[in-house]
Amino acid sequence: MSKAFDEIRNEEQNLLCRSYSRYPLAIARGQGSRLWDVDGKEYVDLLAGIAVIALGHCNPEVCEALETQAHKLWHVSNLFYQREQLDLAARLLSTTHHDKAFFCNSGAEANEACIKLARRYMRKIKNRDACEIISLAGCFHGRTLGTLALTCRDSLSDGFQPLPDGFRQVPANDLAALEAAISPATAAVFLECVQGEGGIVPLPADYLRAVEALCRKHDILLICDEVQCGLCRTGKFWAFQHAGIRPDAISVAKSLANGLPMGAMLATAEMAKGFEAGSHATTFGGGALVSAVAAKVIEIMLRDDLAARAGRLGDIMREKLIDLQSRHPQMVREVRGQGLMIGIELASGGRKAWQKLIDNGYICNLSHEKTLRLLPPLTIDEKDLDDFTKALDSILSEMEAEKN
Ligand SMILES: *Cc1c(COP(=O)(O)O)cnc(C)c1O
Repeated sequence: MSKAFDEIRNEEQNLLCRSYSRYPLAIARGQGSRLWDVDGKEYVDLLAGIAVIALGHCNPEVCEALETQAHKLWHVSNLFYQREQLDLAARLLSTTHHDKAFFCNSGAEANEACIKLARRYMRKIKNRDACEIISLAGCFHGRTLGTLALTCRDSLSDGFQPLPDGFRQVPANDLAALEAAISPATAAVFLECVQGEGGIVPLPADYLRAVEALCRKHDILLICDEVQCGLCRTGKFWAFQHAGIRPDAISVAKSLANGLPMGAMLATAEMAKGFEAGSHATTFGGGALVSAVAAKVIEIMLRDDLAARAGRLGDIMREKLIDLQSRHPQMVREVRGQGLMIGIELASGGRKAWQKLIDNGYICNLSHEKTLRLLPPLTIDEKDLDDFTKALDSILSEMEAEKN
């Protein structure tokens, strides 16, 4: 490790709460699909700030939108009407069957909005005392107390109990378990069509359609967390659209403002009746600056049909990775994903492969110590994806040689 890196690491130990386990990298600069560390070493970024930098680092058009708005208006609070929120809402809603938007600042907050709206809709519109939300094992919905309860993973809630009541979880891909869990207390089923933090696990389309049918049968809400899999990443604008289902609400965040903190809930007009003036609020939600930036992001996604691009590059990439798997059947257990949301599960040596990728100038995520998780910018060059696959190929060969 370099002197510049050691300095920044030591300073952080003095100054910041210990809540993150960092990669052994200190990043100084980014452009497009490239990052540079404090020593000037260049990396191909296949993580994109965890699916946030969909249009690449410092995208010039987004920079321009940011700069223009920065000299006009940043924030006035939601006590005022603001054109910027409406331009963004209209663009976002043009991509889906939903009718209404609520803006906030993160994925967890977008999910909190969904939970609150689901409960309030049941109580106030349906006159049912239904507050319970059912989630699926392997999910991740955030780190607030409510979304931790929804996520239902002991390792994440360790030390934080008590969590709010009214959440239960069933195994994914098990309709009988889901139906058995539904009761008069149930308000909604909450799911990610492609589980992200869970290690890139797409839920089968017929399972999703069957879940929707169960929700309709029992007259409960279906909510899709599109925070990671939404916004073009899987090859359609929204991941739920692959299955042809119509969730009552979705949550959005991560790449919505290409790196500025922003979240949204999109809901049908019917479900949106659950809120009235004063029901829910957040100071920064939909501020003029982030809204103007997000509106530019959505404009570019639509104009350049980045959904189709992600689908096409994802198909090519997965084909190459399956080819790689056939060359390293002992090392690669499974290649999963949809569009540019790709998981490469290794049989062993996940951390070693991940570290060697970094040494070779490729940044990706390591999930559960075994799955290399790729969430590159949707604008990444096909050649960068090819080069990554070649680098991984030689790394796996090296590791095989070391074993023998
Ligand atoms: C990242 C993520 C969240 C949480 O988003 P934050 O902005 O970190 O609060 C929620 N759901 C999914 C699917 C995510 O990937």
